[in-house]
Amino acid sequence: MNGQNKYEILKSYFGYDSFRDGQESLIDGLLEGRDVFGIMPTGAGKSLCYQVPALMFEGITLVISPLISLMKDQVAALNQVGVYAAYLNSSLTQGQYFKALDFAKKGKYKIIYAAPERLLTESFLDFAVHADISFISVDEVHCVSQWGQDFRPSYLKIVEFVERLPKRPIVGAFTATATKEVRDDVMRILKLREPKIVTTGFDRKNLSFFVKHTKDKKTELFKLLREHYDESGIIYCITRKLVEEVYDLLSERGLDVSKYHAGLSDEERRRNQEEFTYDKTHIMVATNAFGMGIDKPDVRFVIHYNMPKNMESYYQEAGRAGRDGEKADCYLLYSPQDVHTNRFFIENNRENEGLSETELANVMEKDRERLKQMTFYCHTKYCYRKFMLNYFGEKADSFCGSCGNCMRQLEAENHQEKLDRHPEYAYSAASAKRPLVKAGEGVRIASGNPELYDRLRLLRNSLAKELQVPAYVVFTDKTLKEMSTYLPLTRDEMLGISGVGQTKYEKFGEAFLDEIRQYKSSHDVPQDKVKAKSKINF
Ligand code: ADP
Ligand code: MG
Repeated sequence: MNGQNKYEILKSYFGYDSFRDGQESLIDGLLEGRDVFGIMPTGAGKSLCYQVPALMFEGITLVISPLISLMKDQVAALNQVGVYAAYLNSSLTQGQYFKALDFAKKGKYKIIYAAPERLLTESFLDFAVHADISFISVDEVHCVSQWGQDFRPSYLKIVEFVERLPKRPIVGAFTATATKEVRDDVMRILKLREPKIVTTGFDRKNLSFFVKHTKDKKTELFKLLREHYDESGIIYCITRKLVEEVYDLLSERGLDVSKYHAGLSDEERRRNQEEFTYDKTHIMVATNAFGMGIDKPDVRFVIHYNMPKNMESYYQEAGRAGRDGEKADCYLLYSPQDVHTNRFFIENNRENEGLSETELANVMEKDRERLKQMTFYCHTKYCYRKFMLNYFGEKADSFCGSCGNCMRQLEAENHQEKLDRHPEYAYSAASAKRPLVKAGEGVRIASGNPELYDRLRLLRNSLAKELQVPAYVVFTDKTLKEMSTYLPLTRDEMLGISGVGQTKYEKFGEAFLDEIRQYKSSHDVPQDKVKAKSKINF
């Protein structure tokens, strides 16, 4: 054990002061030596649930993850916070692979990410049976299930791999997919041993939902892009052809966009995804093929150019916004034509070939019903968040205060009356675009010093470029906003900023402190503009 407790690890490595909902319970389960099964929405912070215990266990933690790009970014992020981690997958040359495996054998890595296809290969097994593996974490564990669209046959091999090890490690399973079918599959296929199951609510409080009924989607799109100038966002289109069309439209106007759909070569998709992740472009235009591999936490908006086929897809795709917990906006551009297009897809779904007449009729009936619910969502006059949560079987307040409908309702009412009726909501007249935030939840920290914030972003981006890592791996926007709001001037103050741990402080702390000091000396920042940040002890 490295001697630090879970809070110290959270603070010193990751720079965070407290655990989020569900995290501590899962970590405690693992530290007691139990299997765990964590079902939490995107952005809830599932990685930390296995990374914190990994740093406390004696041996090695193996993380099984389905996507190469995911592994690469996660390992880069761990390396930046001072954790010895590596990945073993097909993106490495044979030479690199054996070198990494050799380092692994020598115990150089605390956390190893492996692709499921690797597990039963001779070389990997040879390493694994001789290594001290204390914990296996299976990320995106819904990939074992054939129910979803992300099924990976190689995930079925995980259990055989576990059984080949001389001593069974603790097994943790993590996913954002909550359906009962998937949950049962995970339990059965992975053979979890009386796991501690932790499910958190599926409400993404920092996301605001909007539906725009419009005949002129292009004009609406440009309007939204102007509002989100310079922010990262994804535009989902229903067909490849539309992706190309929207992509061309935006590039012609000089916007920096990437595109992604199944019609592009593997290489082209990889490159385009990387452009977006590394902030070389701001906007990704994609079909729903652009999916699970996106771990970019600072996606500030998702625009659905078309209505998707059901609420499940919508929740998942819109949910790629705001993983960092900061405010983000999800728009759906609706036109009646979208219903027809989706109906056409349902009736001509080639995946359904091979089903019997009655099975096919059943599937189609269900799909039609789901499409109907999706259409109802687009037409509801009431809270979009409530509609969505109820659809997934959760209770919800009838007023979220931040979706398109709730905002309209509020605008129609008198300001004072609003506050009387909904005292839990604060109204900030300053930002007409997103006037309402629920106290304490998913609040977009308004930087007190936007100019400094921009300077810190420039510094962050140039460091990221130098290190060839995504910008968020250096510091997230949220961390920079805190810095520009609290203006830390000393080491201790800097370590009090959320997202600044020991290693990151050592690597980047001084550079950012310098920038802040310079800014402060050349600007007369009145003390009351500098918010006090309570000191964190650890
Ligand atoms: P998930 O896998 O559940 O979608 P991630 O593990 O990618 O979510 O985490 C999403 C973001 O939340 C990351 O930027 C991560 O650093 C941040 N995060 C996780 N836990 C905490 C915490 N306790 N406090 C602050 N930020 C956190
Ligand atoms: Mg994750």
